[in-house]
Amino acid sequence: MTEYMVDVRGVHKSYGTHEVLTGVDLRVRPGEVTVLLGPSGSGKSTLLRLINHLERADRGFISVGGELMGYRRAGDRLYELREREILRQRTRIGFVFQDFNLFGHLTVLENLVEAPVSAQRRPRAEAEAHARELLARVGLAEKADEYPRRLSGGQQQRVAIARALALRPDVLLFDEPTSALDPELVGEVLEVIRDLARAGTTMVVVTHELGFAREVADTVVFLDGGRILEQGPPAAVLDRPSHDRTRAFVDKVL
Ligand code: ADP
Ligand code: MG
Repeated sequence: MTEYMVDVRGVHKSYGTHEVLTGVDLRVRPGEVTVLLGPSGSGKSTLLRLINHLERADRGFISVGGELMGYRRAGDRLYELREREILRQRTRIGFVFQDFNLFGHLTVLENLVEAPVSAQRRPRAEAEAHARELLARVGLAEKADEYPRRLSGGQQQRVAIARALALRPDVLLFDEPTSALDPELVGEVLEVIRDLARAGTTMVVVTHELGFAREVADTVVFLDGGRILEQGPPAAVLDRPSHDRTRAFVDKVL
């Protein structure tokens, strides 16, 4: 067992001959917010996809909520889980994408109800009641019966966050959740994530919003060329970085 909600140990990942992650260790305690920063191509999305077992690590281990992602330990041996079990594990992780990824043919409410009913076998009435609560929480109670295309980007992303929460996940992963939004819509999405942080939700957030990172993150992690160059409290990493590459990145983004 582990005291960490997310525990990444010695993870390597290559595509062909290109080693994209070169020995990454990352630990997130329950209730903590980790902001992952780094230049384009540094491996941030790959790391999130590995945590969710959408990709397999070449070396190293990842556990979420104390359970190895994709594997079962039996004595000192590891066995790969079947696809069904991996899908079940994945429902304990909420994933929010840059481009929302809502189901366009479903209403907002149906977007939230689908996975709890089909993947978690929860009663529809209960899933709907929970979905309405979550829509209220992200300020979209009155949009339950709309289709996603009728919503602004900021509203769609708030629906995507509510949809991720509908699975009652142990951890939420965000991959640049505001990068596809018009600047005036960024704030409403960050506000929802900020509320989740206050409520003690465990999150790993890839974002270039440094003001948000400074305010919300317990830990800021700077990834560069597939390795973690430094990590620590926001004030340390953002204001007093110990590496030139971190400083250069922060100066450029600001
Ligand atoms: P980031 O999210 O930090 O921009 P990524 O994790 O998306 O970085 O990508 C890291 C590197 O891995 C990049 O060089 C990218 O081209 C490469 N890469 C990512 N996914 C694949 C893939 N499926 N096949 C081949 N190369 C990939
Ligand atoms: Mg990315």
